[in-house]
Amino acid sequence: MTFFESYQRAGKIASEVRERARKKYHVGTTVFRICESIEAEIREMGGTPAFPVNVSLNDIAAHYTAEPNDILEVKDRDILKIDIGVQVDGYIADTAVTVCYDPKSEELVRVAEMALNEAVKVAKADTKSNEIGAVIESTIVKHGFKPIQNLSGHSLERYTIHAGRSIPNIKTIGPSFSLSSNQAYAVEPFVTTRDGQGVVYEGKVRNIFSITSRKPSKNQEADIFLDQLWNKFKTLPFAIRWITDLFDEPKARELIEVLVKKRNVHAYPILVEGNRKLVSQAEHTLIPSTNFTYVTTL
Ligand code: MN
Ligand code: MN
Repeated sequence: MTFFESYQRAGKIASEVRERARKKYHVGTTVFRICESIEAEIREMGGTPAFPVNVSLNDIAAHYTAEPNDILEVKDRDILKIDIGVQVDGYIADTAVTVCYDPKSEELVRVAEMALNEAVKVAKADTKSNEIGAVIESTIVKHGFKPIQNLSGHSLERYTIHAGRSIPNIKTIGPSFSLSSNQAYAVEPFVTTRDGQGVVYEGKVRNIFSITSRKPSKNQEADIFLDQLWNKFKTLPFAIRWITDLFDEPKARELIEVLVKKRNVHAYPILVEGNRKLVSQAEHTLIPSTNFTYVTTL
């Protein structure tokens, strides 16, 4: 399989599971069931989750995944961002949808989709990243909402989700780069209401992890654990739910804590809107070329 075919397969799986998640009625369902069922669907279709499904509610913009047996349930007033990653041979599709059942939040959800569509239209090879940011921001502002200015899209590399290049959600001043052909990028507008701060801050909860260093920690048990994690996930993010086959939950948490303290493992904090206002998100992965942009997750 060429790298392009791998991107294609990952994208097709990601978009199918996203559309199923979009249509489902999630009220009364636990975030645990949502994560586990989407990840199972990805595997059934021949893909591998590239990161734990993110199920971020309301003012949490990103980086919440279900804990083992998480009892948190979706309520009818909630707005839920479901962010899905699929990898095939390390080539990643990253896509997200926001679901809500309260008509009052529908416009917030729709504006994120509109901003994404407008961004996709201008994202060709050689398009400047700040031009994409400008299109996203103007679409959001025109409809009376506010972009989250410190969250952005990103380049993707094999086994690497955030591969160095950022695609802003606002018109940035200063250095910009041009999109390259045959390079994958995720574009992901985040939108809040006009009374939101338009900035996210790190919250206390951390339930997504990834390996940042394989340097031995001098704790033998932790080092063996680190090797096991490396064999399973390499540099890709994982959740406690994904490692309870290696150790029971308390032990797994204890060893992760050791590895986080030794800086072998990074713990991602949840990202919370500054004024605690609602946040919506939409995301696609695309590979630009000069006259055509291939949206792998369409
Ligand atoms: Mn994503
Ligand atoms: Mn992304």
